[in-house]
Amino acid sequence: MDKYEILKRYFGYDTFREGQELLTDCILNGRDVLGIMPTGAGKSICYQVPALLFPGITLVISPLISLMKDQVQSLNHAGIHAAYINSSLTENQIAKALQYAAEGRYKIIYVAPERLETASFLWFVQRVEISMVAVDEAHCISQWGQDFRPSYLKIVRFVEQLPVRPVLSAFTATATGAVKEDIICVLGLRDPEILVTGFDRKNLYFGVETPRRRDEFVADYVRGHSGESGIVYCSTRKNVEQVHEMLCGMGIPAARYHAGLSAEERKSSQDAFIYDVKPVIVATNAFGMGIDKSNVRYVLHYNMPQSMENYYQEAGRAGRDGEPSECILLYSPQDIMVNRFLIENKEQREDSFDEAQLQAIRERDEERLRVMSFYCSTTDCLRDYILKYFGEYGGGDCGNCSNCSGEFEDVDMSEEAAVIVRCIRELGGRYGINVVAGTLTGAQTAKLREYNVKRFASFGTLSRRRETEIKKMIQKLLQDGVLAQTADKYALLRLAPLAKEVEDGRRRVIMRVPSRARASVASDGRKSAQGQASQGRSRKGRRSDVLNSQGLECFEALRALRTELAREESLPPYIVFSDKTLVDMCVRLPFTREEMLQVSGVGEHKYEKYGERFISRIKEFTGGVKGKYYFG
Ligand code: ADP
Ligand code: ZN
Repeated sequence: MDKYEILKRYFGYDTFREGQELLTDCILNGRDVLGIMPTGAGKSICYQVPALLFPGITLVISPLISLMKDQVQSLNHAGIHAAYINSSLTENQIAKALQYAAEGRYKIIYVAPERLETASFLWFVQRVEISMVAVDEAHCISQWGQDFRPSYLKIVRFVEQLPVRPVLSAFTATATGAVKEDIICVLGLRDPEILVTGFDRKNLYFGVETPRRRDEFVADYVRGHSGESGIVYCSTRKNVEQVHEMLCGMGIPAARYHAGLSAEERKSSQDAFIYDVKPVIVATNAFGMGIDKSNVRYVLHYNMPQSMENYYQEAGRAGRDGEPSECILLYSPQDIMVNRFLIENKEQREDSFDEAQLQAIRERDEERLRVMSFYCSTTDCLRDYILKYFGEYGGGDCGNCSNCSGEFEDVDMSEEAAVIVRCIRELGGRYGINVVAGTLTGAQTAKLREYNVKRFASFGTLSRRRETEIKKMIQKLLQDGVLAQTADKYALLRLAPLAKEVEDGRRRVIMRVPSRARASVASDGRKSAQGQASQGRSRKGRRSDVLNSQGLECFEALRALRTELAREESLPPYIVFSDKTLVDMCVRLPFTREEMLQVSGVGEHKYEKYGERFISRIKEFTGGVKGKYYFG
């Protein structure tokens, strides 16, 4: 078999994704590799395909017990013999697994780094051929990273003890220069092929919303996406409890997760979520490491996280299957204060830092927080902002974020316009846009103090607005000829004749604003943007763009079957088939084995297990006629 046959037969995919083929080839040629790829890019295929073509065994070193279990389950379901060895097994189970491993029963073995130096493990590896050691989450080896794990340093000595040096492959989603250098150096990669694929997650929609009531927003959103799986991140346990209670009160099956719960409670919450018993989970950032659930359709942030790194990691848990998914951050300026407080009171895990180091860490955290808060207020493309932060060039307007989704909304701004006109009249036309906007928001800058604008009655009359919003309104009034500017370098704001009509309400001022800004621009009692965002209409490439209403019904029927099968086997549903695979079934409507094997994600082994039942459900649904189209 060649690599393409392996990909098709076991994983059900026709083609490799960007980067996967290159890394697979290098590994098969015996060359070390370092793959830096974002979550969901498909790192595991890069080592699993070569593992099946190598004569010997592949060891995969992974820090996360839950992830190992998940991966091994998936592999077994694809018909690949794999096992894991970590502290969740008893000594007896480990002994047995190693015995089987020594007999060559497994092609791929996942192992926790702590195990590598145990006598029994060393006994086993002396007896077999180890073709490759794949290091997952390789950034854990770097002391520069956030997740440094001292046990990862054991990998180096372990590899040295092997009779023959295997191919080393390392994978991570963290790409800063220092971490990359550390991985290469500390792991001792030999002339590695280094592949960095783009950090862009094209299937994710990014949004920032500033709703007046976050609870309502979450309630509407979750209701509008019922049946879909989602994560709601909150910054405090208290918020988790509140939001969780609210959702449960609405009859939505939701789980909760935070460090204040017992280990059993956390485990059962996590399982309920993974097995789609409770498709929604409300959690602090303690949740998510090692969660590989591929069909998470949305990640809402109830509060602003502390850094872009955190945000992108948490939001990135949406849409690992490549299907359209949404990441929406609910922002309120108060979040900055809360986060600043959290930073100042952060417990340092290692007490070995001296005061100067602690100060440096605090400054770094402050800077990260600043960058994060700019994300929440920028009017530029959000995807661009993220990619630039991670050192890539974005492509300008992505058309799939709340700042450039092209959804606009007409909002009546007549009252605000009248307030602006009155302010300019009061200031006697002696100031430019910055002073006018600053006066209206009641800003406390040195310059405004110097001008003593506090004495004006207009001071702070639009304090509930952001300065940028007021400036936009002023721009609009300039465009409409309500205001004028002096042509000198001072560009002083003056009233045009039309201003009188605005001031006494004879002339309405309607502004076209991007619909996300609507929530904040129209924040006093008028209808907000929540409804629209929560319906998620007209997002690029949503499932509902691919499937028409018939197709969506078909999808639901197949999803129900998937749940049934998963329950029978106590498996997470996404291990049976991903959402993406189900969508492809609805598009192709396979009636035969051959047709079913064309579906993305259906390999031979899975066909044997589930193929017939899905075919018969599809036949049932369509009445056995393919004439009708389910997509469009
Ligand atoms: P990562 O470890 O990089 O986060 P995974 O290995 O978990 O990503 O893969 C993410 C998802 O992409 C999985 O659902 C996987 O089945 C799917 N996938 C991986 N490679 C391909 C491919 N070549 N074609 C289609 N889907 C793929
Ligand atoms: Zn964009």
